[in-house]
Amino acid sequence: MLFERQTFLVAGLSRSGISAAEYLVFRGARVFIYDDVQDENVLSASAKLAEAGCVIVGKDELYDKVPECDILVLSPGIPVDHPLPVAFRKHGKSIIGETELGALALRCPVVAVTGTNGKTTTVTMLESIFRRAGKNAIACANVGKPLTSCLGELDEKSIVVAEISSFQLETLYSLRPHVAVVLNVTEDHLNRHYNMENYIYLKARILKNCAESEYAVLNYDDPVVREFAEKTKANVVWFSLKEKVEGGYIEDGNFCYRGESLFPVREFPLDGEHNYANALAAICAAKIMGMGNASVTAALKSFRGVKHRLQKVGELGGVTFIDDSKATNVDSAIKAVRSVKGESVLLLGGRDKGYAYEPLFETIKNSGVVHAVIYGENAFRILNAALKQGFTAVTLCRPFDMAVRIAYLTAKRGQNVLLSPASASFDAFRSYEERGDRFAEMLTILAKEGTRERPAAAGEISDTYENE
Ligand code: ADP
Repeated sequence: MLFERQTFLVAGLSRSGISAAEYLVFRGARVFIYDDVQDENVLSASAKLAEAGCVIVGKDELYDKVPECDILVLSPGIPVDHPLPVAFRKHGKSIIGETELGALALRCPVVAVTGTNGKTTTVTMLESIFRRAGKNAIACANVGKPLTSCLGELDEKSIVVAEISSFQLETLYSLRPHVAVVLNVTEDHLNRHYNMENYIYLKARILKNCAESEYAVLNYDDPVVREFAEKTKANVVWFSLKEKVEGGYIEDGNFCYRGESLFPVREFPLDGEHNYANALAAICAAKIMGMGNASVTAALKSFRGVKHRLQKVGELGGVTFIDDSKATNVDSAIKAVRSVKGESVLLLGGRDKGYAYEPLFETIKNSGVVHAVIYGENAFRILNAALKQGFTAVTLCRPFDMAVRIAYLTAKRGQNVLLSPASASFDAFRSYEERGDRFAEMLTILAKEGTRERPAAAGEISDTYENE
């Protein structure tokens, strides 16, 4: 790309937007920057970028700049049908994402991971396997650093482990992964992608550029992902929790890859079958990349999980607090309800993304969930689904702090308070991280107020969830 001759508008100054603007301006491009939000972070980022040579554009002059620009670099947070990209398209201009900019400059192999759930967990596992094997591997894109800001740390021998979301796939055209992993496709982001067909189409785009010399690691147990095998020229390597497939599977209690047994599943530290599936996907990708069994096994046996994903954050009055704030859709909450051992009071709610919540309550009815505290903007939609499914052990309240307090007061000794909200956090927080952190803070606040006498749960109470 001849940056010197081109004018870019970088819209959305989150981490990836900032990285894209820096990347372009340092390469001699003319760069306009814009963000709708004018908070402290955006203002300080804009000021720094302006010092580096970018030009700040205000709301009232934004659309006047379109004819002057060659390319729009769109933040993954802005949908492609927002009026700004629509205006660029009307003028016949290109729209790309920051990940596309990075992909255009990549000179080392890429393992790209997508799917509705489990991306960060799998990418983190892969990064630690590669590092254990002595490789310069970097987890990036939707996790960690934006791709353009990693380029300086990479040489031809490095391995990029890129987490790729459906939002990024909307504006990503050139990425050609050596291994593309698709973990699963279940209902998510329908408020952005409108329907499942569109969402599935976007997820399949990760395989678009893969040729016969490349690999697609696909989940055999997921009916949507299984069909992706028809859509790619890449060599398909399956993983499955149920069948002995050509690829990764579990046999006689061991993780296996193509006839070789790696290590016993009981020695893998994370709970939940979904995490076994993530581990199998990581094993397949790592083996394709030539990693030895010793590195794979050592890295996975010592894997401690990722913050805000089924993370035990503490205990108070015999009640264990589990933070699964990253469960922002129904399937991830289903997986939490299935994985967490013992009885739980479940915290549910936040910003709606257009889901049917009924399948969650189908699972809850046959699980260790004894009570649900429903809070947040979508509380009534969730309550409606609970009642439709005949689950009536619910308390309804709006504010998050009160919900946590009620959940704690409701839980008996030996039970868990499980935050696995099946909803985005943006009704009350800036991110799922902030929501998870507040959950942990509430534990501290409740601890300061003192524990109260509470009855023990009936039956076995000692078998609570252990993750870290
Ligand atoms: P992503 O990066 O795709 O959002 P994470 O690894 O951050 O995935 O996990 C997000 C949520 O999904 C967490 O609540 C986690 O427990 C759950 N999860 C992880 N792996 C899976 C999976 N394979 N299937 C369903 N849910 C999963």
